[in-house]
Amino acid sequence: MYIDTLTPPSVARPEQALCAQTGADFFFPEPGSSVREAKRICGMCEMRSACLEYALANDERFGVWGGLSEKERLRLRRADPNKGIGR
Ligand code: SF4
Repeated sequence: MYIDTLTPPSVARPEQALCAQTGADFFFPEPGSSVREAKRICGMCEMRSACLEYALANDERFGVWGGLSEKERLRLRRADPNKGIGR
């Protein structure tokens, strides 16, 4: 039996995930708050691609993942509905 054991990049390799070092506040801001700082940090993170893939595959609806906001991930999914599904 196959069991999907995807683990968020920040959990799998916290030493490389910059958000694990800065705290979650930047990445899950209050509605309407800026995500600029989170995106800036993601832009320097080695885990960015894996993080974004994880978020798309797991339909993460909230927060900044892989440098993209909730709205940006939604836009990406709408542009390519297969994105992240059954990778
Ligand atoms: S890309 Fe951003 S959200 Fe993802 S692990 Fe890196 S710092 Fe965290």
